[in-house]
Amino acid sequence: MTTKVSEKITNNLAEIRQQLQILAEESQHGQSVKLLAVSKKHPPEAIKAAVDAGQMHFGENYVQEAVDKITQLKEQVPDPVQWHFIGPVQSNKTKDIAQHFDWVQSVEREKIARRLNEQRPDSLEQLNILLQVNIDDDDNKSGLAPEQVEELAEYVMSCSKLKLRGLMTILKAGTTEEQRKQSFQHMFRLYEQLQQTYGGQVDTLSMGMSADMRQAVLEGANMVRIGTAIFGERES
Ligand SMILES: *Cc1c(COP(=O)(O)O)cnc(C)c1O
Repeated sequence: MTTKVSEKITNNLAEIRQQLQILAEESQHGQSVKLLAVSKKHPPEAIKAAVDAGQMHFGENYVQEAVDKITQLKEQVPDPVQWHFIGPVQSNKTKDIAQHFDWVQSVEREKIARRLNEQRPDSLEQLNILLQVNIDDDDNKSGLAPEQVEELAEYVMSCSKLKLRGLMTILKAGTTEEQRKQSFQHMFRLYEQLQQTYGGQVDTLSMGMSADMRQAVLEGANMVRIGTAIFGERES
């Protein structure tokens, strides 16, 4: 990786952090917003450059690719760096996820939660869990229906190696600004309900990507997931 590429990553991060700060001040919700750097399909050197620029949370979608990178970076990045799994979880991959990640944002089934709980090594802290909600009933996407959140939340709460932290959503593509607003507001209401039930441990509402980050933060997101705007285009 050239110096130029790592400088670009550093500059992109600074710019996005500044935007997020301005947006958070504009938001009625008074939240501070965490940035999840989505590093899928980008090499360990790019992640290292982001860590050197102060970035602590990284999102990955593909288990094998992620485990390779996490293992490779283990000696090079400080302990507070946190890895978030954000892709669809297949049940034959839960063991690797439970062993290598700090967060799973894409939990949508009891079976997956049960396996993560059983397979989380005792030597590690609780695995942080977000439930993925299919808020706009998108046929192409995974996620729980809003009315199923309560039941799965209760199940996750009963798992001693899991810690329920909140909700995640990916909005349907090609909707209007008004539809997105409705969906984000619906997510915020679900998030508030979870907080009312379980208190302060529920502290994360992960919504908003490069294209809809602004709207998501104004409607209460406190974690946004950004890939391309930090690391550049992915090779597919
Ligand atoms: C890839 C991905 C992102 C980031 O997408 P960009 O368009 O690169 O910013 C965010 N969230 C999820 C769940 C993703 O899979």
